[in-house]
Amino acid sequence: MDLNFCSLSSGSSGNCYYLGNDFHGILIDAGIPGTSVRKFLERMNISMKTIMGILITHEHIDHIRGLELLTRKFSLPVFTTHKIRSSILQFQNLAPSATILEIPLKKKFNVAGFDIEAFPVCHDAPETIGFHISAGHRKITIATDLGHICENAAPYIKAANLLVIESNYDEQMLVNGQYPYFLKKRIRSDYGHLGNHQASAFLAENISDNLSHICLAHLSKNNNTPKKALETLYKTFSEKGIVLNGKQLISVLDRDIPGCMIKLTG
Ligand SMILES: [Zn+2]
Ligand SMILES: [Zn+2]
Repeated sequence: MDLNFCSLSSGSSGNCYYLGNDFHGILIDAGIPGTSVRKFLERMNISMKTIMGILITHEHIDHIRGLELLTRKFSLPVFTTHKIRSSILQFQNLAPSATILEIPLKKKFNVAGFDIEAFPVCHDAPETIGFHISAGHRKITIATDLGHICENAAPYIKAANLLVIESNYDEQMLVNGQYPYFLKKRIRSDYGHLGNHQASAFLAENISDNLSHICLAHLSKNNNTPKKALETLYKTFSEKGIVLNGKQLISVLDRDIPGCMIKLTG
């Protein structure tokens, strides 16, 4: 059965990803309004009735903005860790009927037939996680909002067939940009965001034929452009002598509009 992935929105203004098969789907993060989620999915002929739950990576507003409506109007259960659940409840006024189920770290659980593992990443929230999702032998890893790739996250990132990896900022744009010093320092820190150069260096070190799709994600509006993110990746590959095998697809996920549906087959 095909495993389908689509980014509905990716960036510091809002993050939401869809993953599904012919029968069911799940959302990863809910950082855009619930009405937009429904509208985007309906355009792709995906009914909200087929969505079985929402996985949440952390409490920041660009990941949970639409959670109130999605849990209230569509009664979608939420899956996240105990710590992230507590943080969300502090910031979001969810309906008493909202279901937030606690998940373990680095241990498989199942939602709608998908095997899922959450892994910790380093970011400036009380807890932030990435997700590694498999169906059969097809594997998708989502790792955004991480200051660096720590040893907890690296194995999951390396194991993906389809990888959604943060490529948040261009070093020069950030350093020379308008942000105050403290914010620049925060973004570049080990608990901030992953820059183009860091994502590219990791991919150049670890790319294998198993990796069929690289999706550069969570781009900054002010400190990056899709062109810069791609140029940095291709330049790093070229410097390391890496030649793509012709079947590997690299894309940049849009900040405001859904991307193409990617089908993992076989
Ligand atoms: Zn974010
Ligand atoms: Zn964040």
